[in-house]
Amino acid sequence: MTNESIEKVLKGIVHPETGENIVDSGFVERAEAGTEGNISVTLRFAKTRDPFAEKIRRHVEEALSTAFPQSRTMVIVKEAAPKPRRREQPTTTARIRNIVAVASGKGGVGKSTVAANLAVALRDMGYNVGILDADIYGPSQPKMFGCEGYVPDAEKRDGNDYIVPAQRQGIEIMSIGFFIDPKDALMWRGAMAVNALHQLIHQTAWGELDYLLIDLPPGTGDIHLSIISEVKITGAVIVSTPQQVAVADVVRGVEMFRHPQVGVPVWGVIENMAWFTPDELPDNRYYIFGRGGAERYAAGAGIDLLAQIPIIQSIMEGSDEGRPAAGFDPRVEPYYGEAARRIVEKSAKEC
Ligand code: ADP
Repeated sequence: MTNESIEKVLKGIVHPETGENIVDSGFVERAEAGTEGNISVTLRFAKTRDPFAEKIRRHVEEALSTAFPQSRTMVIVKEAAPKPRRREQPTTTARIRNIVAVASGKGGVGKSTVAANLAVALRDMGYNVGILDADIYGPSQPKMFGCEGYVPDAEKRDGNDYIVPAQRQGIEIMSIGFFIDPKDALMWRGAMAVNALHQLIHQTAWGELDYLLIDLPPGTGDIHLSIISEVKITGAVIVSTPQQVAVADVVRGVEMFRHPQVGVPVWGVIENMAWFTPDELPDNRYYIFGRGGAERYAAGAGIDLLAQIPIIQSIMEGSDEGRPAAGFDPRVEPYYGEAARRIVEKSAKEC
């Protein structure tokens, strides 16, 4: 498998509008054979929202996996080259020391809860922390920090427009949820959400942050690829419940970050809802969702198990009341404190 043989396959795919193959139409920005049978293709279409983009992306994946059955293909779709104004405006993420992606294979495993409590734990260690809530399917950071209904202001600096994040409990918060009605969330999928996130990433008026945690949507998809390609993520943390940890979604998520073209270090797994201890039996641990799954998976995948967080009522209540429990419940604090310390250790190694 060579770059030439990959290009030959791509030349077999025609863009319905140009009537020409996608290589001659100029839509293939790069197509490379990497190590270990990985193929990486970046498509850049001429239009901002090319209606055929998704169809062609799938076609490319299928054609390459048919032609090279042993290979793994990653296709990144980029928008039309950004307008010059965008490029001139300096991105506000440039000053942030560490950008940490908080991801999960599936929804409902506690990813957003972990992100919010980690933010609080890092704050309590003395760091300046921000959260970017990019979970377009269920933006929940506004609720977790009690700032639902916050209407971001725009601020002009040096002739450029910036969006002012909410400030709650010493943490800077920007959420896609400030811009959408949850009832409309479905129509925000795809290109619109990608465009909106692009603005939130590059135009939020963050302060001097030590850590920006990005609460990603569950799973893997275009939103992830777009964020990964737009911003330098220092490391990724995967949140899972014990029974979900080895399932395909988590494995795919880890592979996405580890893909050679992406190259984001996976710092580890946080096992959430690891066990339950009733108040009246403080020495007992009930492993409701199974035991040892995360440890086994982490060891097998060569990933660290960063922390195990039990099911604690105040974690759920704190999220509902707009104040993450790591900030006020001494039974909860040590678990997130440990996870935060491990993250600080990991980020120190990346410097
Ligand atoms: P996700 O972001 O993965 O969709 P959430 O963070 O919204 O998941 O969590 C799902 C639900 O589980 C929420 O109601 C949250 O309060 C609750 N929850 C998450 N982690 C815990 C925990 N360790 N103990 C108790 N409740 C939890």
